[in-house]
Amino acid sequence: MSRRRQIYEGKAKILYEGPEPGTIIQYFKDDATAFNAEKKGTINGKGVINNRISEHIFTLLGHIGIPSHFIRRLNMREQLVKQVEIVPIEVIVRNVAAGSLSKRLGIEEGTPLPHTLLEYCYKDDALGDPLVAEEHIACFGWASQEEMQDISAMAIRINDFMAGMFAGIGVKLVDFKLEFGRVFEGDFSRIILADEISPDGCRLWDIKTNEKLDKDRFRRDLGGEAEAYQEVARRLGLFPEGSSEVTDLNSERKKRGK
Ligand code: UDP
Repeated sequence: MSRRRQIYEGKAKILYEGPEPGTIIQYFKDDATAFNAEKKGTINGKGVINNRISEHIFTLLGHIGIPSHFIRRLNMREQLVKQVEIVPIEVIVRNVAAGSLSKRLGIEEGTPLPHTLLEYCYKDDALGDPLVAEEHIACFGWASQEEMQDISAMAIRINDFMAGMFAGIGVKLVDFKLEFGRVFEGDFSRIILADEISPDGCRLWDIKTNEKLDKDRFRRDLGGEAEAYQEVARRLGLFPEGSSEVTDLNSERKKRGK
């Protein structure tokens, strides 16, 4: 692993050069950050779980025709993906008011929205990923109008699919974040889904109790974050009891004394 060239280290992942040109290896860390990295910590086993959950969701999305950077999972913490040029926009998809939307507009957390809301944030850590309008995206050329059409249409399809998938396992999909990238084919480029989809970037509430099963447990010091991530994976049918991955995950946690 040490011989590989590291391309980038982010808050939750490290990117390494992949085995073939145009590929990248995503390594999922246990590190967790919140509030623009003002709060830092670790969630034991998170990287393993997020790698598996993201693989699962990207694979299912592929089955309904959503193109993504995902190629295959390599091991417990790594997946092989296509290299993309990341569109510098975070797409936030909301079904229920929570987090920054509730704060900004004074809408009580948990209020269902009359229809799905898409918001865009400009990806810039120094600026704290500010909310922007489509007009800003066009004005500063962060994405073309055609690209934004593809992005918004894909985001709505992804939401429809994921909301149903999570409802089927007793989880309410409150909101989540998506990132997209460009792949170049000759003179043309097309937009594909990139990054990851995991409880790090989604709000997932138990349908009956509204118990939070996502990174808000870490953000809001609620405790039990590792268990919540594991519960999401369990309900999705990943890491079946007795599988070697569960044993590995538990021994990894024991080693760390947690
Ligand atoms: N989100 C994310 N990364 C970010 C900002 C938001 O993954 O940099 C996710 C977050 O987990 C939540 C949704 O996007 O599921 C909406 O987040 P919100 O705008 O409410 O921001 P927050 O309250 O998390 O600061």
